[in-house]
Amino acid sequence: MLLATLFLATVARAEVLVQDVRLWAGPNATRVVLDLSAPVGHKLFTLDHPARVVVDLKPARLGAGLGQMPGGTGLVQAVRGANKADGEARIVLDLASSAKPRSFLVRPEGRYGHRLIIELDNQQSQLRTPVVRANEGERDLVIAIDPGHGGEDPGAIGPRGTYEKDVVLAVSRKLAERINREPGMRAVMTREGDYFLSLRQRVERARLLGADLFVSVHADAFKNPKAHGSSVYVLSSKGATDEAARWLAARENAADLVGGVSLDDKDDLLASVLLDLSQNASIGASLEVGEFVLERLGAVNRLHKASVQQAGFAVLKAPDIPSILVETAFISNHDEEKRLRDKRYQEQLAAALVSGIREYFYRNPPPGTWVAHNRQRAPGPREVVIARGDTLSAIATRYNTSVPALRRHNGLRGDNIRVGQVLTIPGG
Ligand SMILES: [Zn+2]
Repeated sequence: MLLATLFLATVARAEVLVQDVRLWAGPNATRVVLDLSAPVGHKLFTLDHPARVVVDLKPARLGAGLGQMPGGTGLVQAVRGANKADGEARIVLDLASSAKPRSFLVRPEGRYGHRLIIELDNQQSQLRTPVVRANEGERDLVIAIDPGHGGEDPGAIGPRGTYEKDVVLAVSRKLAERINREPGMRAVMTREGDYFLSLRQRVERARLLGADLFVSVHADAFKNPKAHGSSVYVLSSKGATDEAARWLAARENAADLVGGVSLDDKDDLLASVLLDLSQNASIGASLEVGEFVLERLGAVNRLHKASVQQAGFAVLKAPDIPSILVETAFISNHDEEKRLRDKRYQEQLAAALVSGIREYFYRNPPPGTWVAHNRQRAPGPREVVIARGDTLSAIATRYNTSVPALRRHNGLRGDNIRVGQVLTIPGG
């Protein structure tokens, strides 16, 4: 009897350690991540007045390093924790308002170990009404900009420790500013800060906002640090164009696993087949806008691939919305990491992107938009990034202006222009 009791006591001591508690707040949800030494059973319940979520883990213990709980953010006002006598660890989340929690255990992925994720939906933002598109009049083109990764998912990490999630947010913000300066165009961002969004949430947000184009901005890494250059990807209904595209898609799609949501749940299989079918129409448009963007990117960076690549990126699954994924540069390449951190280079990338996007829409304006009504009298693209082989006279012809007008507008003395230089096109 005594031996048995001792044995049980030893088994009970094989507790799982709660090593860290991290919080991420986004506009739609707040996410609480418990870093664990191993998977563990848990119970979760809510209490009202005041609103709380209680998480009991067993057998588990709060790690010694967890003396200080993180401060509140988003829906969570405070986090408290205690070890109970029966080998149970309790975490209490004090909430600003009641919320329905979801929880799931996630296996190790990348730099993270076992985790228990508790997600709290922000009720109000769920009820936000979609933007209604006017049937007549001159509506703005809506460009959804999707800065890749965010929150607990840093994306790729450069040799100097630069996080992909940070540089792509910086480029995206500059891109949004430039788009909002264009007449008849409006930018919306899928994320505006450092928080996690699943790939599906990104697409849903673009659809809810009535986007005419979805641009996902990334800066990727490759095993070989010599890999360099910009690339543009669109969704493929048949599979990846090549091995590298397949590898990259697997990497970007894994972001959802980092966040704990697997994309290949069986229920979604049929839905994704239907999605792929309805997508063929927008793949053509995606390819076209991708070509314009790639051409303009070629002015500010070497190109990794000379043509638009196709791969099965989950983030591009937005039926009826032309969608592109831009790998601005390789963060794993020493030189390109340095440039990605440079604010001027970020501006150049943003200018190149907006120039390609603008060119596509001025050639293919959706009916009912300001651009459709005004593209004849509108000035040409207000900014153009000089590509290889461009001359002042070719640009003047392309944008229906004159060389002296271009010179005057940009303070140019002669005909010399540099690849990557941004020129302003005078208004009509
Ligand atoms: Zn990425």
